[in-house]
Formats: sequence, C-alpha cells, structure tokens
Amino acid sequence: MRIGIGSDIHRLVKGRPLVIAGVKIPFVKGPLGHSDGDVLCHAIADAILGAMASGDIGTHFPDTDPKWKGVSGLELLERTRKIAVRKKMKIVQVDTILVCQQPPLSPFRDEIQAGIAGVLKIGVGMVGVKFKTNEGLSEVGKGQAISSFAIVTLVKYIKT
Ligand code: MG
Repeated sequence: MRIGIGSDIHRLVKGRPLVIAGVKIPFVKGPLGHSDGDVLCHAIADAILGAMASGDIGTHFPDTDPKWKGVSGLELLERTRKIAVRKKMKIVQVDTILVCQQPPLSPFRDEIQAGIAGVLKIGVGMVGVKFKTNEGLSEVGKGQAISSFAIVTLVKYIKT
C-alpha cells in the first residue's frame, strides 16, 4: 500500500471562472493560473504522484509548456490516473480539504465528489471532500486565494 499527500494554492482574481473538480461555482472571482486553476484536482494529482514517488504535476505537466495552457484539472487528474495505471497502481481512496473563505461550497459537495470519483474510477464513498474557511486569517481568509490538501491511498495490482 502507498500513501501520498498533495496541496495547492491559487490566487483568486476577478473575472476568472471558479472551477472545483470540474464543477463551475458561480462567483465573482476565480483562480489565476496557467491552467484552469482547479486547486482540488491539482492537490489530488500531486498526492497520487507522491504516493508513487513520481515527481509532481509540474514535472509531468509543466506550466512552461503551452500544451498545458488552460488544461482542465479533471484532464490532469485523468492523465495522472493513467500514469498510475501504467505503473500497475490502483487508486483506492482519496480524502481532501478545500480552504476557501467565500463562496460557501457545501451545496456543491455531491457534484465535486462525483466529479473526482468519476475520473479516478472509484466510488463516491471513497472520496472525502471537506470545506473550511480560513477564519478570515491570511490571504486565503481575506478571499485573495484558495487552497487545498489531499491524501490518497494506492495499492499495487496483484495478479491472482
Ligand atoms: Mg495548481
């Protein structure tokens, strides 16, 4: 069994769409980034790569490469899952925390869970999604950024 941890943070700026695990959240601000800035997908992808000791999303999908400009978080996650498949690793379970002062995200939990579960090909019961504010503290708490944390469990496929 392998365990991986990942995190991500993006600045929030006016006029950018806020996309969390492929779910479009109505809000005046969204993450600044080379890609769509889907913090949750980025943290999960890093956690999966970490569990395999296979670098990070910057290694596999460098933001200096125009190929990845505007790429969706769900696509990066799907590509990361395929890297795991090639290494004969199976993603078992994911737990996450999304830290965002505004807007309230809990109404979108089911959709976000389903988005992650769908791409990773695991049940929604294997995808933890927790929302926290930052109690008004630091940039995240002042609504200038959104951050996330993820932990994943992987197992090696064993032929029976
Ligand atoms: Mg990111």
